[in-house]
Parts: sequence; structure tokens; C-alpha cells
Amino acid sequence: EKIFDMLIIGGGPIGLACGVEAKKAGLDYLIVEKGALTNSIYNYPINMTFFSTSDRLEMADIPFMSIGNKPTRTEALEYYRRVFSHFQLNVKLYEAVEKLDKRGELFQVKTSKDEYLTKNIVLATGFYDLPNLMNIPGENLPKVHHYYKEPWPFINQKIVVVGGANSAVDAALECWRKGAEVSMVLLDEGVDQAVKYWVRPDIVNRIKEGSIRAFTKSKLKEIREQEVVIATPEGDVTIENDFVLAMTGYKPNFTLLNQLGVELSPDEKCQPVYNEITQESNVQGVYLAGVVCGGMNTREFFIENSIVHAESIVRDIVNKSHK
Ligand code: FAD
Repeated sequence: EKIFDMLIIGGGPIGLACGVEAKKAGLDYLIVEKGALTNSIYNYPINMTFFSTSDRLEMADIPFMSIGNKPTRTEALEYYRRVFSHFQLNVKLYEAVEKLDKRGELFQVKTSKDEYLTKNIVLATGFYDLPNLMNIPGENLPKVHHYYKEPWPFINQKIVVVGGANSAVDAALECWRKGAEVSMVLLDEGVDQAVKYWVRPDIVNRIKEGSIRAFTKSKLKEIREQEVVIATPEGDVTIENDFVLAMTGYKPNFTLLNQLGVELSPDEKCQPVYNEITQESNVQGVYLAGVVCGGMNTREFFIENSIVHAESIVRDIVNKSHK
């Protein structure tokens, strides 16, 4: 039976970067991705612009061309497609990894379509698959969305945007510009400080002039078919509502880490335990790459600062096999 040197779970930017390094080092590797190539980016809002300039997202000396100074989602999809085809990466798409087991010195990887044996595993599963739920009545109604794609469904509709970070602000502004009546529900006194610096004045001024209504220091309490209840410092307020965009962030899926016995920090960060030089977790032969390394702190790692994980991992695997 075939045995891989390295099986990479996740075909996002960092999973692909690991594949490129593995190929350059002559390792026998496979990338398994549950959706399309760079599935998370594919699922981003259609008109999203990255906060990084394109040169900072480059990998393996492949230039990243972008018309503006910040690349768009489409430009990023095309870039990663070119990286994939240039290196002829060994990627299985639409194949989800479902179960990981230790078999002596090896790992057995069970997917929705097949089974593989590998000496090393790289978890590069990102964080965009599981939304942070509000756990309030009505959250399951079909009018509630945890992912935002584009503004067209919300023309002339009364929408509530929950959250004050980049995703929430982008959605609120885009929908308001297409004629939605937008209310934001913000936990703090205003939108987050970390909102993209070139977008922040836009949202701050729309709120100040009253074009977008903001309920500050508030929490969404209940969602009903035609209205929502907001807990504000002045008491509960009920407003008419057609759609809720719950932009409350996302979290990594810890299931695969747990199956292998990767330890998580005991605080609310749930950060996986790993060696920062090699990216190897507390389980020998199990490596972590990309945003998953931050645990619940999904802002700690992004593409720019985690491309280096790929080199560290491949260097360690190559060093070990020469021992
Ligand atoms: P991901 O891109 O999330 O890739 C993980 C992949 O693993 C996914 O394709 C997923 O389908 C797959 N996967 C998960 N579970 C399984 C499984 N069981 N089996 C098989 N495959 C699986 N970062 C930046 O650096 N710059 C930016 O400008 C930027 N803008 C962002 C804007 C938005 C709206 C969001 C949500 C994020 C943004 N980020 C940005 C963060 C960015 O998403 C991450 O930095 C980047 O995607 C991390 O890459 P990754 O490969 O670690 O994870």
C-alpha cells in the first residue's frame, strides 16, 4: 500500500504553500480539500478586497498581479489557481477528511471518498467553516445568514447586521448603498478599532449622520419572522426586520485535532500546543499550519504571517528523515 510522506488537510493558501514546499523538497505529498480549490476564499463576499497588498500574499516567488493596491477575491482565486497549475500540485478536491487514526508509526486518514496512509499530517483547515453562533431564539430561521455574499437580495429590505468587525462593516455599507434599511447591533460603543483604516471613516460617518442606525452596547436577544428584539442599555427595543446578517465571526473545527490528541490551551483561546520553530504539535508527526494555529484567536494568524509555516514544516520533516 502507498504511504505518503506528508498529507495536508485543507487546500487554502497555507495548505497550498505546504504542497509547494513539499514538492520542491521531493516529498511524496497529497493535499485533501473538502470543497473547491481555496474554498474559504471562494466563499468570501463576492466584492471583498483583501486587507493585505498583493506582494505580501505571494508565495514561492510567483508574482501576484493585482490591478489595485489591494487584491480582490477574484484576483486571489486566480492567483491560487495559477500556483496550483504552475506547480501541478497533487490535490484532491471535494473530499473531506473525516477521521484520523494512529496506526503504529503511521497515520490513517479516512475521507469521504477514500483512505490513505501517511507518515506525517499537516492540519491547515483554517477557521471559516463554523460560525460563532449567538444562541438566541430564532437563530435557525431561514432569514438569518452567517455568511454574506452580496447586497442584491436585500434591496429595499429591513436588515440587521450583528457585529462590528470588518465583515459586518463591509456588509452594512454595501447593503445600505443598494437601498437596504440597515441597523447594526454593536456590543461596544462603536465599530471595532481594527476595521480596515480606509473603510472606518465611511461607516463612522454613515452612523453619525443616521443613514445607518447603530444600537451600541447592545445585543440581539430574539429573532422573529417579522421583527427582532434588541437588548439596549435603555431596555429592550423591538424593530421590524426582514433579514439578519450575523457577522459574529468564525471558529476553527477542533474535531480532527481532538481525534489525534493535540492538546489545546486551557483558556478560552483554545490554542493548539505546538513548537513554534517546527510547527509540530505535541503529537509527533502532526503539524499545524495557517490560521488554525491561533485557536479561537482567529486574528492572530493570516496569510502574510503564516506562509512561513510551510517552510518550517517541510524542513523539519526532511531533517527527520535524514536522521
Ligand atoms: P483557509 O483559507 O481557511 O483554508 C482551509 C481549508 O481547509 C479550506 O479550504 C477548507 O475547506 C479546508 N478544510 C477544512 N476542513 C477540512 C476537512 N475536514 N477536510 C478537507 N478540507 C478541509 N488574511 C490575509 O492575510 N489577508 C487578508 O486580506 C484577509 N482577508 C480576509 C477576509 C475575510 C472575509 C476573511 C473571512 C478572512 C480574511 N483573511 C485574510 C484571513 C484568511 O481567511 C486567512 O488568513 C487565510 O484564508 C488562511 O489560510 P488557511 O490556508 O490557513 O485557511
